[in-house]
Amino acid sequence: MSMATSLDTEAVRIIHDEDEHLAHNYEPLPVVVATGEGVWVTDVEGKRYLDLLSAYSALNFGHRHPDLVKAAVDQIGRLTLTSRAFHNDQLGAFATALAQLCGKDLVLPMNTGAEAVETGIKTARAWAYRVKGVPADAATIIVAKGNFHGRTTTIVGFSDDATARDGFGPFTPGFISVPYGDAAAIEAAIDENTAAVLIEPIQGEAGVIIPPAGYLRAVRELCTKNNVLMVADEIQSGLGRTGTTFACDREDVVPDLYLLGKALGGGILPVSAVAGDRDVLGVFAPGEHGSTFGGNPVAAAVGLRVVQLLQTGEFQKRAATLGEHLKTRLDELIGHGVTEVRAAGLWAGVDIEPALGTGREIALKLLARGVLVKDTHGQTIRIAPPLTIRATELDWAIEQLKLVLEG
Ligand SMILES: *Cc1c(COP(=O)(O)O)cnc(C)c1O
Repeated sequence: MSMATSLDTEAVRIIHDEDEHLAHNYEPLPVVVATGEGVWVTDVEGKRYLDLLSAYSALNFGHRHPDLVKAAVDQIGRLTLTSRAFHNDQLGAFATALAQLCGKDLVLPMNTGAEAVETGIKTARAWAYRVKGVPADAATIIVAKGNFHGRTTTIVGFSDDATARDGFGPFTPGFISVPYGDAAAIEAAIDENTAAVLIEPIQGEAGVIIPPAGYLRAVRELCTKNNVLMVADEIQSGLGRTGTTFACDREDVVPDLYLLGKALGGGILPVSAVAGDRDVLGVFAPGEHGSTFGGNPVAAAVGLRVVQLLQTGEFQKRAATLGEHLKTRLDELIGHGVTEVRAAGLWAGVDIEPALGTGREIALKLLARGVLVKDTHGQTIRIAPPLTIRATELDWAIEQLKLVLEG
């Protein structure tokens, strides 16, 4: 590892321990983070880095947002877990606030994003059999190529990323994959057994792929016309990232189900949820679905505080305004080491000219300059700072990218 020489002995020892005893399912950049505050983290040597990844948008409010830490710590001092076998005094308020934020009747709380996706799939299937009248075990769900919805066997079974999928079969049947951004392909795939269309309004892992204007609205219209559920995976795109509460808002589209996660846990703990109206999410009867930790009091206390932060609209506005600025500054790099920029709010995919190195090589050079980013799909780096970032900090980070590209 080329960067190892710049690491002190403690960092080297920690990374060595990880190499010895952690399953090798990730390949982290060689930085050992010890503390974080706002948009900045500090490594074990005391070197500071600007976090332009935000844990894939789980840190939309930055590291250790004081209101969120307080909600968590206060709750940990009172009650941490009941399971859903009993009521706790936090969950009702969280459910009410989140349902209202989503404009939906009901929410179903889970923990990880993948669990929210699984919940969405089960909801769509149960709805297809019990409400739509699809014959038993015949329901299908249309998904998009290039999708990322998580890591369970069902979910990777309908991924077309060979690294995520190969070697983990056999897979759950009932999914039909069509090109992303192509509403006509969805229309052609819909038949009387279609339960749902499951899409990301913007594909994050694929490299911040923004569908053509009108796509989400066309999907919404097709779903309504054909009595098919529109399920929007807003786990990464939602909760302020794109300059609106949900990425679907960009086209004034309301899906039948929102799948939420990541930022819903305030960067503190995993909190996910599915939101939908009673005629859809009301399909579950007690015992049919659940989770030991889903809706736990700490998750509910933090999740409620997250929703309250979003209710002010301040973060959405910051993402919209600073996002314009980010896009303008990144566009200036096109032809100077960058081949393409895709941006929505404070979220950008930046394709690096292959001659200058891979996305990971650029990420390593940015790391040396105190900027944390993550590459995806070879040539792309993703930029997704906390929504609390200041314009001056954003400018400084883009300046570092410019210097890296200039070599
Ligand atoms: C991260 C992500 C998931 C999976 O969330 P986990 O919490 O990692 O299980 C699902 N869908 C999208 C769009 C994501 O970005």
